[in-house]
Amino acid sequence: MKVLVINCGSSSLKFQLIDMDGEITIAKGICERIGMGGHVEAKVIATGVKLEYDMDLPNHTVAFQEVKKCLTEGETKVIEDLNEIGAVGHRIVQGGSLFNKSVLVDDSVIEGIESLCDLAPLHNPAHIQGIRASIEVFGKDVPEICVFDNAFHSTMPPEAYMFGVPYEYYEKYAVRKYGFHGTSHRYVSGECARLMGKNIEDLKIITCHLGNGSSITAVKGGRVIDTTMGLTPLDGLMMGTRSGAVDPSVVTFLQEKEGWTPAETSNILNKKSGMLSISGVSHDDRDILAAAAEGNERAKIALNMLWYQIRKYIGSYIAAMQGVDAIVFTGGIGENSQPLRKNVIENLAYLGIGFNEEVNKTAIKGNGGELSTEGSAVRVFVIPTNEELMIARDAKEIAENL
Ligand code: ADP
Repeated sequence: MKVLVINCGSSSLKFQLIDMDGEITIAKGICERIGMGGHVEAKVIATGVKLEYDMDLPNHTVAFQEVKKCLTEGETKVIEDLNEIGAVGHRIVQGGSLFNKSVLVDDSVIEGIESLCDLAPLHNPAHIQGIRASIEVFGKDVPEICVFDNAFHSTMPPEAYMFGVPYEYYEKYAVRKYGFHGTSHRYVSGECARLMGKNIEDLKIITCHLGNGSSITAVKGGRVIDTTMGLTPLDGLMMGTRSGAVDPSVVTFLQEKEGWTPAETSNILNKKSGMLSISGVSHDDRDILAAAAEGNERAKIALNMLWYQIRKYIGSYIAAMQGVDAIVFTGGIGENSQPLRKNVIENLAYLGIGFNEEVNKTAIKGNGGELSTEGSAVRVFVIPTNEELMIARDAKEIAENL
């Protein structure tokens, strides 16, 4: 079966066609600037053939039509007919407490996702547009499956997901921790167990997804017991442009001093904070590493803040799980930043982890590896994430069991 994986943002549509026999990506691409112009990129993986062009993309339906065209016509043609696509899998950011696993789309699912728009105003409306456009273009015969970013985190107990604000807001607005990147944490924790040759039910794993957005998750026996992101992806670690967790009074103090509206506050905390603002250099880890290597003090502070926070969360999750068997690094930074991994692991030597410097150098650019030495009490892995594959696996399983 071939599965088309879709990740719709408000002005973008990423796609990936995966052949589930062998789990091989056939083609992938992106439609960008939807509603404000339009740009299309598509690549056939086997041949390396790449197309890139501007065209008017007034809405998601037109973008889907273009995806269809890329896959079935011209230089990037990889399928004869749309019938070859056995399922479409959609990444959905916020499933709230309504969805704790992947589901087949029907009207009630769309209504459910719609009812959660308040919790993910930037993402869920775009996902709904994407699902509707996909049904319009691919027809009702192709099963559409939703895979939720926070579903993997739905096993968290109340002591982990409740915030200490008046209980009525939990009842009234469902204000609680939901967590994000769940598909990535699920994929890499599963891969980690496979690499260890053990049953995930018998393992305590800490997964560090570090990219532009970052989160760390404690997975005990295959179930999430805590994660660093909260009601929104703003909580937890400091990120590229997001503040991460701060004393809530910092926010009200600055609102009073600066006269920020809620929208301005959100914009500053989400887009103008984090590594970008501390370093004064960039939101991009590579630029910050380069600046720090040249002696830029603020870049050094930014890196040290992030690395310290990672060690602190790892420590707290070891306490939460009463131990740890493995730590996993993934995401653009986790998969590539050698200095970050060196700093974090060397500072965890007290756990009995030996650090393999050689593997740390080679485990980059999509190459995984084991960073711990033989006989380490805790094993440490770099595992490139593959959220698209996880979405495709869920979509295939649901489509096959219809
Ligand atoms: P997103 O959260 O948007 O999916 P990614 O997981 O792609 O982001 O991660 C992007 C981050 O990965 C950027 O900060 C980028 O600098 C970082 N990154 C990519 N390659 C390297 C590298 N070689 N060394 C350090 N950081 C890297």
